[in-house]
Amino acid sequence: MLENLTIEQTSKLLNSKKASALEITSHYLKKVSDANKLNCFITVSEDHAIKAAIQTDNRISKNKKIGLLDGVPLAYKDLFCTNEILTTASSKILSNFIPTYESTVTSNCQKEGAIVLGKLNCDEFAMGSTNKTSFYGPVINPWKSNESDEDLVPGGSSGGSAASVAADLCIASLGTDTGGSIRQPASFTGLVGLKPSYGRVSRWGVVAFASSLDQAGPICKTVEDASILLEAISGHDKKDSTSSIEPNEHFYKNLNSSVKDLKIGIPKEYLSDDLPEEIQGYWNEGKKILSENGAEIVEISLPSTKTALPAYYIIAPAEASSNLSRYDGVRYGLRVKGENLTEMYELTRSEGFGDEVKRRIMMGTYVLSSGYYDAYYIKAQKVRSIIKSDFDLAFKSVDAIFTPTTPNTAFPISKEELDPVQNYLNDIFTVPANLAGLPAISIPFGLSKSGLPIGMQLITNTFKEQTLLNIAKNLQDSINFNIYPNQWWK
Ligand code: GLN
Repeated sequence: MLENLTIEQTSKLLNSKKASALEITSHYLKKVSDANKLNCFITVSEDHAIKAAIQTDNRISKNKKIGLLDGVPLAYKDLFCTNEILTTASSKILSNFIPTYESTVTSNCQKEGAIVLGKLNCDEFAMGSTNKTSFYGPVINPWKSNESDEDLVPGGSSGGSAASVAADLCIASLGTDTGGSIRQPASFTGLVGLKPSYGRVSRWGVVAFASSLDQAGPICKTVEDASILLEAISGHDKKDSTSSIEPNEHFYKNLNSSVKDLKIGIPKEYLSDDLPEEIQGYWNEGKKILSENGAEIVEISLPSTKTALPAYYIIAPAEASSNLSRYDGVRYGLRVKGENLTEMYELTRSEGFGDEVKRRIMMGTYVLSSGYYDAYYIKAQKVRSIIKSDFDLAFKSVDAIFTPTTPNTAFPISKEELDPVQNYLNDIFTVPANLAGLPAISIPFGLSKSGLPIGMQLITNTFKEQTLLNIAKNLQDSINFNIYPNQWWK
């Protein structure tokens, strides 16, 4: 009864008193401890979870009507500051950081009674697409190829958030997405991952990577669950000046899977001979389903697509280099003593940060330095505006854009990528939505020949999350994916 539960199903079990929150929470805590091999969790917050479950059960026993998230075991990427719970951003430099405050989004979930099982492993400071950059070691994808027994990457940077839901160690999770880190791991693990419009969700209390791109969002088993969580975490927050004043919406209640008369754009620049045939195949199937269900498929052009990745890899490191300057051994986390202040800074940062983070700080400070600022940073900002105008133009004629989420499926952890740029190519389809601030979702479509999940992406105009969720639901209901990995790790 307690296998692969969704938020909707858990809430029904609780409301009908078929299971108590304490039973469900204890069951999931046991699953977490049985799955150490996957390395999904950095911290398990067992005491907090049990306490919250008892509180839910008290509310139920008093016959209070409980909300959809009340009593539902969730877990958060270790980038969200959680009061009194270790928050590391998967970095050595924060390996002893226990916040005295709670991020707005996680606090919104807790206010609704959600239960926090713990904090999930990710790439260090959310920089990466494999989870291999974590100080705590890589997360292992619960999926295996049917051609070999090798451990696979779960994608990144929210790899723990995706692997934990796919392995059913929690019911749903929160991740963050700066260039694809919710959608790419969701696609690699057969799940739904949603990046909201920039500003829909508060960034307050989320460890900053690239502030003009970062957004938190859900990774879940269904589109329904994504709409429940999105609704819970959204809304204006006085503590984040970039959070939007748009009124919050009832995404779950208003979910409607009709795509009749909607226009869906297929960007011709995303078509490439390099795209594996099976990904192309599911993309074609998606177009067919949408058109059979009443949508009109139209070819569109996003001419600046090619420039998105280079622009992202200038803007994101530039912002990261500035954001990460706060980790100096004085204010937070690790301090390595030196002969004098400068040496203390140097030793702390050399020891505290991993290679990928150092690479980003170096790229970022380089493109922001005088002489290169105009040549790189300003140019990348101009390119970003052009990318945004491409989308603005496209959304004059279509309601949504439909593309693959990634150019590949999950690959072996042992696959040595000597060239970091090769890794950056993972983000080719996801980065444009971040640069333009648009909402985007990845939904599972099917398995590759080797038995690995393949996801497809939908993008809509800013604050059109309801349309995004509706189209995603239409595809979900037509495809009926509903496949989970074999539990080999037990
Ligand atoms: N893979 C991208 C990067 O390394 C995206 C990361 C993210 O979205 N957090 O920058």
